[in-house]
Amino acid sequence: MTVLERDTVGAGGTGRSSAIIRQHYSNELTARMALHSLRVFQDFDEHVGGECGFQATGWVAIAAAKDRAGLQANVELQRRVGIQTRLLSVEELREIMPALEAGELVAAAYEPESGYADPHLTVNAYADAAKRQGAKIVVSCEVVGVRFAGDKVVGVDTSTERFDAPVVVNCAGPWGARVAELAGSVVPINSCRVQVAVFRRPPGQQGPHPVVMDFIDGIYLRAETGGLTITGSIDPGEADAVVDPDDYPEHVDDEFVADMGERFLQRCPALELSQSMGGFASLYAVTPDWHPIVDELPAGSGCFICSGFSGHGFKLGPAVGLMTADRITEEASPEFPVHAFRFGRFAENDLVRGQYEYSIAG
Ligand SMILES: Cc1cc2nc3c(=O)[nH]c(=O)nc-3n(C[C@H](O)[C@H](O)[C@H](O)COP(=O)(O)OP(=O)(O)OC[C@H]3O[C@@H](n4cnc5c(N)ncnc54)[C@H](O)[C@@H]3O)c2cc1C
Repeated sequence: MTVLERDTVGAGGTGRSSAIIRQHYSNELTARMALHSLRVFQDFDEHVGGECGFQATGWVAIAAAKDRAGLQANVELQRRVGIQTRLLSVEELREIMPALEAGELVAAAYEPESGYADPHLTVNAYADAAKRQGAKIVVSCEVVGVRFAGDKVVGVDTSTERFDAPVVVNCAGPWGARVAELAGSVVPINSCRVQVAVFRRPPGQQGPHPVVMDFIDGIYLRAETGGLTITGSIDPGEADAVVDPDDYPEHVDDEFVADMGERFLQRCPALELSQSMGGFASLYAVTPDWHPIVDELPAGSGCFICSGFSGHGFKLGPAVGLMTADRITEEASPEFPVHAFRFGRFAENDLVRGQYEYSIAG
């Protein structure tokens, strides 16, 4: 087994220092996948070997009062699949995160076990585990062609050498559509620029806080060491910022920092003396329904795709790995059936949707 990488590192490959892990999904398959993955991150050394830097800070979702029924239904769905989660009263919310302005009009859900992990540690630990199983990892090596003999894939051409392979997996993230084209397939994966703004909280307020998904103000907040809070948008409008993944502005825009700062302080007025620490821009690989494509393309060719995670692929990673392996080996009773993520769903207009959606993070 050979794993090829261009000159960036996976899991965002973007300088992000951590990725949020939560299980709040509005359909059962992804909720089960997130729970499976959480157990791997919690006990990473046992499952994979090495460190992933998991920090169980807890996770809070805040929705408008009008979405309370939807949030409650979602919480019930999560609990049915075994996820520890519950609705919070305003008083409980204040206790869990005192700086947060709850008001009387919000509904909130809480996952005490969720948190965040370090993508760089995680990717390197997986790479080491793969090498222990005999994989050879080749870096700074761009796939520039996919070779077929008749209908079957037989290998890839790269910027440095040719590789023969009976199975090829396109897991090129924001470059997924481009690599699919090399294999003759057109897939709806857009590379979209997303931004992150970082703030340093005032002295006395610099301890960890739970991850917050604020579906009212369209912002997420995550604590980082050094008294920092990392903020970003959960507005599906981010899918409109389609860019060339090899050539896009990697800085954060001043207007974005100002906008996130305003929303952050609106939700946490007690942190008004926070300082802006800048931020960065990176890429989501977005599909029309914000869920990945895991399939064999073209059918029967031995060429597979596992791309388009639309900004929530880190937390699904361990489960998606199993799903993809089962798809390739044609495991008869896979733990996570791949049907929902098949390519054909777009033409069939059978998109992955949850029953209770209030934003993209569902
Ligand atoms: C700012 C930001 C915040 C995020 N936060 C979270 C979060 O909190 N929780 C969460 O679950 N997810 C989060 N995500 C999403 C998560 O990072 C992605 O879903 C995940 O990294 C996708 O993994 P991937 O392996 O599909 O793609 P990537 O991690 O993008 O890896 C693709 C790899 O393919 C390589 N490649 C591309 N083209 C070629 C080629 N031609 N030849 C060889 N190699 C190639 C690239 O160099 C790269 O290494 C976030 C993403 C961003 C940008």
